[in-house]
Amino acid sequence: MSNAQATEQSERILKQLVDKGKPILGYVYPHTPLEIIMAHGVMPTLLYANPTVMGSYEASLQTFACSFIRNMFSQRVNDQLPYVDGIVFPGNTCDSLQNLADIWHLRYPQDKIFRLTYPAGDQGEAAVQYFAEELRIFSNSLEDAYGSPFSDAAFRQAVDLVQQFRDAVQFLYAARLLQPNSVRYHRIAAFVREFHSAPLETLVDELRATVNDVENSLAEADRVDSTKALQHALLERRLEDVSLPSDLPTPRIAIVGGMTEPLAIAELANVISKVSSTAVVFDLLSFGFKTIFTPMPAFEGDLFETMARSVLGALLEPTQEGLPKRLDFLKDALTHLAIDGLIVCEQSFCDPDEFESPSLLAVASEVGVRTVRLPIDSEFSDRARLEGRIQSFLETVAHGGAE
Ligand code: SF4
Repeated sequence: MSNAQATEQSERILKQLVDKGKPILGYVYPHTPLEIIMAHGVMPTLLYANPTVMGSYEASLQTFACSFIRNMFSQRVNDQLPYVDGIVFPGNTCDSLQNLADIWHLRYPQDKIFRLTYPAGDQGEAAVQYFAEELRIFSNSLEDAYGSPFSDAAFRQAVDLVQQFRDAVQFLYAARLLQPNSVRYHRIAAFVREFHSAPLETLVDELRATVNDVENSLAEADRVDSTKALQHALLERRLEDVSLPSDLPTPRIAIVGGMTEPLAIAELANVISKVSSTAVVFDLLSFGFKTIFTPMPAFEGDLFETMARSVLGALLEPTQEGLPKRLDFLKDALTHLAIDGLIVCEQSFCDPDEFESPSLLAVASEVGVRTVRLPIDSEFSDRARLEGRIQSFLETVAHGGAE
């Protein structure tokens, strides 16, 4: 499924839901707690950058606004978000998102705008308590806006659905690392995209069928147990005991970056497939690994506290504290997952990406992994050059040369 087809499909599904009277709440930040939104009978949908929309100069936005934000606001200005009647913006992340939320509220006061403020620092228990309170306030605002109170039963169902989805995709991530020809990266990215567009049971059923097929293919090489062990190691972020088969195809490429969407990258990765369909084995993208490997909330104690622990237990974003943790994990992944090359994606004009990238490059260099920086905008306006850059990087890595 291409990026454009995914957008069309998601619009079709959202329209059906709206026709049935389901309210749709958009979100732009990967760690938004879907379970709380669903507990109010509201359908969360991730708002993606749309490559067919030119994020042109928009006088309302500040000059520092990144390409992603410009694209998002242009979609609203062009009336291209017809099914979404509200948006939850993150607070305390980046200036661009702050600016977007302010301007949106000013220009479109009829839209329901929510703000969920993330803790500034990585201060353990204090951050959990702070964020639990934010989630409670968010839940109360949802009740006021939609007139539907938090339902304990709907929350439990949502936690279960999200967890089934994550568990299945985690398995596919591990399978791709151990036996890259068992599942295409593009397929994993499409599942991630579809679920975040509309978290529905039908998609999880489809995902289960794919997991079955992949398990059968792994069983032929007696790799089901080792795949499950790798899934667990990735979830625990303890990779030192991982052992990989000795006959893995090379090169093995990982992709890292901030608010970059795996399906968009998978499209660019078509050029990678021309070199090797097994090359991209891993990503550390916001909408990919970082959300998929979020720990499951426990069903005990205060539900908001439990959700706060779950959200803050993920690897989080360049806009948040926790860089040492992210760097340690990247180093482990590059070393223990036998990565040969690292593609570092940077959204154009994204300050957080530009601050974090040098540290990512330094870690890769420390462990002798070749790297390439890929500045991307939401419209892929520079597509030919990006593809050329990826292709020459892959050829360099495949032939063991210097970049
Ligand atoms: S984190 Fe970067 S890409 Fe995301 S909204 Fe902020 S500036 Fe834009």
